[in-house]
Amino acid sequence: MKSWFKLDPTSDFSIHNIPFGIISSASLSKRVATRIGDSIIDLYALAKLDVFSSLGVLPDVFNADFLNDFIAEGKEKTKAVRKKIQEMLTDDQSILKHNPQVFLDEAEVQVHMPVKVTDYTDFYSSIEHATNLGKLFRDPENALLPNWRHLPVGYHGRASSIVESGVNIHRPKGQMKPADGPPVFGPCKLLDFELEVGFIIGKETQLSDSISTEAAEEHIFGLVLFNDWSARDIQKWEYVPLGPFLGKSFASSISPWVVTLEALDRFRVPGPKQEPEVLDYLKYQGVRNIDLKLEVSLTPENGSETVISESNFKYMYWNMAQQLAHHTVNGCNVHVGDMMASGTISGKDERSFGSMLEMSYAGKKTIPLRDGAERKFIKDNDTIVMRGHCEKDGIRVGFGEVRAQVLAAK
Ligand code: MN
Repeated sequence: MKSWFKLDPTSDFSIHNIPFGIISSASLSKRVATRIGDSIIDLYALAKLDVFSSLGVLPDVFNADFLNDFIAEGKEKTKAVRKKIQEMLTDDQSILKHNPQVFLDEAEVQVHMPVKVTDYTDFYSSIEHATNLGKLFRDPENALLPNWRHLPVGYHGRASSIVESGVNIHRPKGQMKPADGPPVFGPCKLLDFELEVGFIIGKETQLSDSISTEAAEEHIFGLVLFNDWSARDIQKWEYVPLGPFLGKSFASSISPWVVTLEALDRFRVPGPKQEPEVLDYLKYQGVRNIDLKLEVSLTPENGSETVISESNFKYMYWNMAQQLAHHTVNGCNVHVGDMMASGTISGKDERSFGSMLEMSYAGKKTIPLRDGAERKFIKDNDTIVMRGHCEKDGIRVGFGEVRAQVLAAK
């Protein structure tokens, strides 16, 4: 695809991407937009020029605080809108080319939560991460629990505290249990990030319906980077026997541009071999993992940025289709706007661990930073940034970043 739009080849937001998000500006109310390079296209303004009505998508769908109504139009229509934008970006005679007023500079807009998150589930689908945690917290010889290779373990998370990149996070307070004394209350001491990727449901089901692995991707609109902040000391004391609660629910941060599954299609790679063989409802056809390079950086207050982790979404043991099939096999219904996160994405070597808990071996080792500083966990005023992009045959599709600074406990 050759575009008249001049684009830096290292941009995550190439013509092959065309993600969707919500923006506003000093003079514009919240609306649906896309991003190309460092430019934003106001899709409500573009729709009012009558470019999408032949696809059956009316301008009002773009005049919205969230993407949910646009997503609910269905994949046929959202795919057609994305394709139409790509066509207009390659056609010298297009309405887009001749209406430069629909372009906004990235610096003049505010980017908001892309979706109203209706419900949130967090999986635990990286075998390296689950093994590392099993070794640290339980038994180095039998790190994986007996169910782990048979089903994608998950828990029901909290939707209300999912926020967009740029929203700073206060260190949570809670109950913790020192090894040598009774429980205490206070600001958590072991604050961590979890490097994850989330997917957003684009097609609802009714109660008692199940989604097969074959049909699963029809229900996935797109993906975002997902930082699942975790208070390890609160988590360790509270999680038995029902799983994570306040150590997780204080906040999760997402990247603001939703990258569609279609934009990621060319970057598919086979996943790891699953042994033992899974039950029939978890079997799948096709190539379902995505070669998506991920990194995490930490920047101390007034310090310089250090990339402390480099991982890849392709390491996932359980893929999104299997997660969704498992999630709904009991008849649990899903809604447009539901968020499903992967679980921490770790690779085999230390450099690819997706949490500080793993990198610091639960606080036994320090993580070196530039300028001589070091960390075991996150300190107040540290900024955590996650980035992710795919690249193949000179084509780049990326997510930009999800960024937040950790502030002192409130
Ligand atoms: Mn998590």
